[in-house]
Amino acid sequence: QPLDRYAVFGNPIGHSKSPLIHGLFARQVNQPLSYTAETAPIDGFNHAAKTFFETGGKGCNVTLPFKEDAYHFATCLTERAQLAGAVNTLKLLENGEIIGDNTDGEGLVQDLLQYHVPLQGARILLIGAGGAARGVIKPLLDQQPSEITLTNRTLSKAQQLAEMFAPFGPIRAVDMSEIDRGFDVIINSTSASLSGELPAISVNIFTTTTYSYDMMYGLGQTTFNQWALDNKVTAAYDGLGMLVGQAAESFMLWRGLRPSTIPVLQELRKNLEGK
Ligand code: NDP
Repeated sequence: QPLDRYAVFGNPIGHSKSPLIHGLFARQVNQPLSYTAETAPIDGFNHAAKTFFETGGKGCNVTLPFKEDAYHFATCLTERAQLAGAVNTLKLLENGEIIGDNTDGEGLVQDLLQYHVPLQGARILLIGAGGAARGVIKPLLDQQPSEITLTNRTLSKAQQLAEMFAPFGPIRAVDMSEIDRGFDVIINSTSASLSGELPAISVNIFTTTTYSYDMMYGLGQTTFNQWALDNKVTAAYDGLGMLVGQAAESFMLWRGLRPSTIPVLQELRKNLEGK
């Protein structure tokens, strides 16, 4: 019996950790499967995905720059994918439909909850209004925070998102230069840390009871989390757990059970540090 086939599509895809993560999940739950990293030409996602499913692929993850292509490729969408405007998980259903889901936001939420970061009733500051921010707002609102304050270098983008998600819970857009008070949970969804930069925001956002979360990850502390820790926050977490969390949610969609993320996160951290 051939193994069930899964894959991740991206460009570039060489450094993807998804094959390692799903390989560890498969071993953990004792469900042998095949999971490979596949590149597609920038304008060739549809063809690659079509071929994948026509030749027996069961499901795939989709990463940059194809998340919007995957959104259009899917023949039906989950509510969270619709709201995110992007798809990171596709699954072939028995009736031939291909469902598109977005598990990034739930991956973030589950990661935060795993660290016992209180979200219910929390005052959350979300910095950034790009694709990653859009994907996490609904899952965060589902945790019933007291409010989400959304801010972005380009304020108009934050305003658009706040308007879009207002029907789902308390969210408002505020100009970065006007923010001058502490928050319970601060999530940096900008790509500023990638280039060692910080968003131009007041240091008063940090208090000794603040939890900081940077969606970026890498060796050592991210620029943002180092800044948060220098300002005495309770704890700072990077986005590696979100990566493992979104993968666990995808695995759940495909295989019907959610693997434990903690041992996989530990393994991945070792892998990242080259140990
Ligand atoms: P986008 O390109 O869609 O958005 C980038 C965001 O960062 C915008 O809000 C942009 O502001 C802001 N930004 C960029 N540079 C700066 C800067 N120097 N100062 C202030 N703001 C800045 O990217 P994504 O939303 O897709 O991804 C954002 C980050 O999240 C990336 O680092 C990505 O790796 C990470 N991510 C991590 C995931 C995980 O699983 N851990 C999952 C998804 C994303 P403006 O609108 O003004 O340009």
